[in-house]
Amino acid sequence: MNDLTRLSAHEMTALLRSGEVSSQALTEAHLAVAERQNRALNAWLAIYRADALAQATAADERIAEARHEGAAALNALHPLCGVPIGLKDLVSVKGGQATAGSKILQGYIAPFDSTVTARLRQAGAVILGKTNMDEFAMGSSCEHSAYGPTANPWDLTRVPGGSSGGSAAAVAAYHVPVSIGTDTGGSIRQPASLCGIVGLKPTYGRVSRYGIVAFASSLDQIGPFARDARDAAILLHAISGRDARDATSAPVEVPDELLKLPTSDDEAAGYLRGRRIALPREYFVEGMEPGVAARVREAVAAMEQAGAKVEEVSLPHTEYGLATYYIIAPAECSSNLARFDGVKYGLSDRTSGEYIADYLRTRGAGFGPEVKRRIMLGTYALSAGYYDAYYLKAQKVRTLIKADFDAVWAAGFDAICAPTSPTVAFPMGAKMADPVAMYLSDACTLPVNMAGLPGVSIPAGLSDGLPVGLQIIGAPWSELSMLRLARAYEGITARAPWRDLEPAELQLTDDPTTPSPIERKERLNAGASATGSGKA
Ligand code: GLN
Repeated sequence: MNDLTRLSAHEMTALLRSGEVSSQALTEAHLAVAERQNRALNAWLAIYRADALAQATAADERIAEARHEGAAALNALHPLCGVPIGLKDLVSVKGGQATAGSKILQGYIAPFDSTVTARLRQAGAVILGKTNMDEFAMGSSCEHSAYGPTANPWDLTRVPGGSSGGSAAAVAAYHVPVSIGTDTGGSIRQPASLCGIVGLKPTYGRVSRYGIVAFASSLDQIGPFARDARDAAILLHAISGRDARDATSAPVEVPDELLKLPTSDDEAAGYLRGRRIALPREYFVEGMEPGVAARVREAVAAMEQAGAKVEEVSLPHTEYGLATYYIIAPAECSSNLARFDGVKYGLSDRTSGEYIADYLRTRGAGFGPEVKRRIMLGTYALSAGYYDAYYLKAQKVRTLIKADFDAVWAAGFDAICAPTSPTVAFPMGAKMADPVAMYLSDACTLPVNMAGLPGVSIPAGLSDGLPVGLQIIGAPWSELSMLRLARAYEGITARAPWRDLEPAELQLTDDPTTPSPIERKERLNAGASATGSGKA
């Protein structure tokens, strides 16, 4: 095996079980590339070399024992046993940092494992480290991280998307086969789209949020990044299911078929026959890049050719999605972020010795500008005179958005296909001065969160040399059939030339003279080069 980092998780599972490769070797190979390339990508905020190798040893022992016991014991292991994984830096891992990309959580050490962490440990996954993100998951470019932006391996001068940009870039760059992100309005699907990988936001309630730093509790969901549908399904399987510690996690069965998506491309493609796919008119929004719309329409046409029935539908309240989201999400964040008071967690400025003054100093210094903007918007929307006019109204519109989707399911459609992001990866700095332009990156993803639905973004080719994502949206709890569709699309495009391409600037991340994203940002801020690629 010449390069272990090019393996998918399910390929690793097979090699681990047959004894052809050890988790030690896999973990060492992935650590080495992550450590070497992180300067140029800034995808990781922490890499846990010693811990990861210890977990790999433990996984190797588990696998060896099972092999000794026989096939049944091997099959009882979770496919992720021994497989390296990255976690967004808002997932609590006992004894480790959880900065949520914020200065205010600098120095905070999580005293417990999140449920997702505990389930991954139970499965035997090897936690390689924590990935970069927009502060408190607020953003669409990873540029709102207090620890510097992450670069997109397809073009190092461009953003990887956000807020889970580090998790997406790490998978695209082969630092890990799979990683965990969170999606409140698009933060898994949009970076997956911009980095050319698979990213799935589960149905609200599918995955426990216990131990995840909260942004907007009625919208947040944790989900997988992977390079193919099968790996996304395997990771989703590991983290899903009811958890007594999160009252919003639902007692819905987690299908074991998630572990058995078809291996053969032809068999996978067969799933398309007779499926009814809805194409929502409103999702081909104004400002959408023609190359993105073209790739998505081609993908849908290919599915139609393979036997799916495609019909245009209308989701008439789509245009209110953005405005509604930017009332509800900030309102919930203003409440969730009230706990960062300089007493309980991380940063604490006690210079004045007076509680209120120190509280204001801590929050003033600890939160970045986007987070402050959201807290102010949310506090305003919830205040006595405005609650009915904004928050209550937004909740009513949210119901209408959900009803649009309900009508599609009632009409018997299996899934909705749409673009994930209106654009391909954009240049760093391009949207930082214009929050609304940044917010528009999620126009096609956030209605899905408002309705609590599952959605997955899968690679659908390139436009101008950069990845385009196709979004598949499903009815509640339909992740399995969505992933079967995703796998079917992989099946019909398995021989497309773009499938063989690696991120175009991956090689540059090994070059010590390549500027880091932090250096690029400093240059941008200094206004040094307005348009230069800065790749020298
Ligand atoms: N970009 C959106 C926001 O800034 C969504 C973020 C997310 O899904 N966490 O709120």
